Amino acid sequence: MIVVKDGEIKQKNLSLQMGLNTLIAAIIGIIAISILSYNTYQLSVRHNHIMDDNYARLNYMNSISSKLYEHEALVFRHMATEDEEDRARLQRRAEVIEDEIDWLLKSFSETLNSGDYETYYHSINSGLRSYFSNVDMIFDLSNKGDVKTAVYYMQSSISASVQKINDYMTSYNTRANLEMLEAKTDMQKAIISARRVAAASLVMLSFFTIISLILCLRISNRMMNRDHMTETLNFTKLSQYADKLKRKDKLKDYVGVYANIKDFKYINQNYGSRRGDAILIAYVKVLDGAVKKGEIVSRYGGDSFVALILRERINEFLSAIATIPMRLELSGKSADIEVITRCGLYDIGTNDDIREIINGMTLALNEARNSKTLDRVWFRPEMYDDMMAERGVIAEFDRAVKDHEFSVYYQPKVNIATRELSGCEALVRWIRDGKVVPPDDFIPILEQEGRVTQLDFYVFEQVCRDIKDWERQGLTPVRVSSNFSKLHLRNPRFAAEVLNLIEIYKVDPDYIEIELTESSGYENFRALSGFVENMRLAGIQTSMDDFGTGYSSLSLLKDLDVDVVKLDKTFLQGIEEGSKTDEKMVENVVHMIKDLDRKVICEGVETVEQAEFLKSVDCVMAQGYLYDKPLPKEEFEKRMLHPIYELKRA
Ligand code: C2E
Ligand code: MG
Ligand code: MG
Repeated sequence: MIVVKDGEIKQKNLSLQMGLNTLIAAIIGIIAISILSYNTYQLSVRHNHIMDDNYARLNYMNSISSKLYEHEALVFRHMATEDEEDRARLQRRAEVIEDEIDWLLKSFSETLNSGDYETYYHSINSGLRSYFSNVDMIFDLSNKGDVKTAVYYMQSSISASVQKINDYMTSYNTRANLEMLEAKTDMQKAIISARRVAAASLVMLSFFTIISLILCLRISNRMMNRDHMTETLNFTKLSQYADKLKRKDKLKDYVGVYANIKDFKYINQNYGSRRGDAILIAYVKVLDGAVKKGEIVSRYGGDSFVALILRERINEFLSAIATIPMRLELSGKSADIEVITRCGLYDIGTNDDIREIINGMTLALNEARNSKTLDRVWFRPEMYDDMMAERGVIAEFDRAVKDHEFSVYYQPKVNIATRELSGCEALVRWIRDGKVVPPDDFIPILEQEGRVTQLDFYVFEQVCRDIKDWERQGLTPVRVSSNFSKLHLRNPRFAAEVLNLIEIYKVDPDYIEIELTESSGYENFRALSGFVENMRLAGIQTSMDDFGTGYSSLSLLKDLDVDVVKLDKTFLQGIEEGSKTDEKMVENVVHMIKDLDRKVICEGVETVEQAEFLKSVDCVMAQGYLYDKPLPKEEFEKRMLHPIYELKRA
């Protein structure tokens, strides 16, 4: 038993995976680029700072050094000259240079940011202070004319302190150069590590991009070869495989299977399309599991699948997919269903190709669809003839309507107890080339082509005319039921058009009954119940035809206000075979319908025994060959004149 969870449709979402990968790749890229640029920015700021400061300080140092030499030279010139004015000028100039040196030293100190360099500043500063005070003394001595002492003084202490200052400055320069070199090395190292980070992120980026690419390829491959929802192969893939088999002359070893879920539309409507999808996915798993090596199955669209199965395995395959029990787990409750496969089968010949296989399988499946009993149909060449005949029906329909080839027959409805004629059903016949064609040979075709609605109104109009004619003849008409296809329910003016004809022909609504099949209900319940309501308001009875052949009969009946329920003739089959269970069932169904205040009529009554059984279970009305087959109008009129049936046991 396959368990289908409530709306559970898990699909691998490759696009999501691809999106995630691309996102990861993009995030890695963005993070790597941000780290790299932030680091590089920080480094270059630091580097620039160190460089700028050091260059500035070096400049100050060099300026101080050259100013000091200039100053020293002035001191020598002061000692050398005897001209007082010269001395005074030189002394003033020396003072200006001292101020300049002070300013340079102050500027130097302002650029200092590490404690280390402060010692240089202090040493140079104190050296300069002692030099300047010594120079003052020298100027004094020199002004007093004691040049000898001044020279001595100059040579002994001043030159030494200048030398000392210069040494400090040289040592500072060496250190500053070293620091700049370190900064440069740092920068180079940073560039190398940045290169490494860049390379690593490039590798990761490429990795995720490659994964995204692989996923992209898988997605496009999947899109080309697989069906999106069920993830099974698509028809293109199957066609390619069939072509390959054909080239190898192996296609003739296979059988073409066109599988379709029986009444999937009903499953979808009853359980909702999401659960329908989940059922479809579970169904595909069974199909995939039933296919063996060398075979192939693909989705052909909707609930249709096409498979190529090896001839010797066909029975095994068909029994694996025939009936699939499933348990639906629906919001806490569980429901058991059987998914039934309907198949069109095509025995592949040497010259066949995929197009012929598909055409043949489609015809076979159509026959299975129209059959009430067969779920598996093999293609037969005559099916092409039937198809041509169907096409003939469509091609000739308009002309046949114009030439009045359609004629209305009436089948009596009889009260079982009194054997009195109590109504009739209008049934169409096509008198084609002098032969009477039964409706089963053309109604389903017209229904498929959407043309049956025109015929229904044609029949109904004839019914109205016949009723009027009977009145004119002085006959008392019985209520006539007319069949209307479920296709009318798509027409919002359906009720209005029915009423319009009654109005035109001035027919008493009491003589009219409208038959709609049970299958109309679950396909378009709202339109059906609206129609029934409109008819009720106009005093026209409605009946549910072929009751018991569909699915939701009971619930439909509960919600739909029809006047009459027509039990399908299949109900009588079991009774004929003497099945007690079937008898019980008919009895209960009849009682239940009566409990719901509906009238019951049973169709297809052929024997007195059937009629008596129906009477015994309180079914009042019957219709069937026991009383009459559908009769031409004139024949039926004779029944109206002699409305009591004399029955003989067979
Ligand atoms: P239905 O509406 O269920 O009509 C009852 C069918 O059962 C008729 O077949 C009738 O001839 C047949 N029948 C009656 N008594 C017996 C019996 O004792 N034994 C057996 N074996 N069959 C019996 P018919 O006339 O061939 O019509 C077949 C179906 O065609 C109808 O089934 C109805 O669905 C459709 N049909 C007929 N006329 C029209 C029409 O004007 N419009 C539409 N939409 N459908 C029509
Ligand atoms: Mg009917
Ligand atoms: Mg019927």
